[in-house]
Amino acid sequence: MRQPHQYEQPLCRELIGDPDVWIEETRDNKETAKAICKLCPHRIECAEYGIMVEVLGVWGGLTTSERARIADQRRINRTKLLIMPNVYKRHNTGDDND
Ligand code: SF4
Repeated sequence: MRQPHQYEQPLCRELIGDPDVWIEETRDNKETAKAICKLCPHRIECAEYGIMVEVLGVWGGLTTSERARIADQRRINRTKLLIMPNVYKRHNTGDDND
């Protein structure tokens, strides 16, 4: 997974000079970051990076709390996937005592 400083011409670097500029999530930073990220060609990749790696700041147009919510949802989905093999096995064997 690439980090934003490895992207080709990320809009934050082109316009402001630093892809890490929105680590500190002030109200002004948040609004500016969201507006610029919305136009950035790396928005999806950057948001994914932010969800997986970064705890603070705006990444790919998503704030700290927005990314935390998505990360929480993904943990729930992963839990569901982990229990699916047992459900599948029970349906195939007819044995509910596994
Ligand atoms: S999506 Fe936003 S934070 Fe990420 S590289 Fe683009 S402008 Fe920078």
